[in-house]
Amino acid sequence: EAKKQGGNRVVVFDELINKDKSDRLRIEARLRKAIQKKEIAVYYQPKMNAITNKITGVEALLRWNDQELGFVPPDQFIPVAEETGLIHPLWECTMREACTQIRKWNEKREDPLCLAVNFSARQFQDSELLVSKVKEILTECWLTPEYFEVEITESTLFIQSEETIMALKHLKEYGISISIDDFGTGYSSLNYLKTLPINCLKIDRSFIQDLQTDGSNSEITDAIINMARSLKLQVVAEGVEEEYQKEYLLKNECWHMQGYLFSKPLSKNDMEKYLNQ
Ligand code: C2E
Ligand code: MG
Ligand code: MG
Ligand code: MG
Repeated sequence: EAKKQGGNRVVVFDELINKDKSDRLRIEARLRKAIQKKEIAVYYQPKMNAITNKITGVEALLRWNDQELGFVPPDQFIPVAEETGLIHPLWECTMREACTQIRKWNEKREDPLCLAVNFSARQFQDSELLVSKVKEILTECWLTPEYFEVEITESTLFIQSEETIMALKHLKEYGISISIDDFGTGYSSLNYLKTLPINCLKIDRSFIQDLQTDGSNSEITDAIINMARSLKLQVVAEGVEEEYQKEYLLKNECWHMQGYLFSKPLSKNDMEKYLNQ
């Protein structure tokens, strides 16, 4: 009897895996088309200086609404894009569109915006090619490296570690800023961080989410802010939704923030309105 049940469980498990596989295949097929037809939109989320209440830059975030699949969040299609190599053409389209857009917006602004783009681990497999591609695209789109920022997660640093670090070093020397995204969820040690060519730590939104209710979260946030200060790095808090979170961060001298309290990611047109208001 027990054996039978165990057997059934395996069947259910197999079905789940097969369903997962076929979902991925479907996403892959649709994604390939969507990239070709340029159906994946670039949205922009403001990064704020919460003291001056001014926008300092934007982060490019992808939005895909597929005719068959409906809205597919990046957390679902980015991993598929990484596994299949579709991340390369997808990234290139995103870069060209976003860089051109920022340059146009900056032409009309007194304080230029900085554009942040998320990079995947997979892209650092051929890091020399990546570095030359970034330079090529910035040049073609007339965007100064000073107004461009790379966001990578801690785990990206650990995969192909040496290749990745060399690439970041070259990008930083070129004038580009490097931010570590979702910081605090990975495994970076203080000693390791000290040696890295980086400019900024972005505190993961899970720590910001319940700053007040969860004592350990506020301790982690404080520790990251202090760590950034002692390493002379900038620090940005992501996922700031509530006024009390903003107040807490300001009190602890974290001035740069991103989150729904300021703005959700906006379409190009909505971003334009936001900038003009
Ligand atoms: P991320 O880079 O850490 O981006 C922040 C995510 O948090 C975004 O989700 C954003 O919409 C969301 N967010 C921002 N403020 C708030 C807030 O106040 N509250 C809450 N609950 N959420 C907030 P999104 O757009 O779904 O993107 C998820 C992840 O997908 C990104 O995390 C990034 O890792 C990845 N991603 C998105 N676009 C790209 C891309 O062009 N390339 C790559 N490689 N990854 C991307
Ligand atoms: Mg990011
Ligand atoms: Mg993040
Ligand atoms: Mg993330």
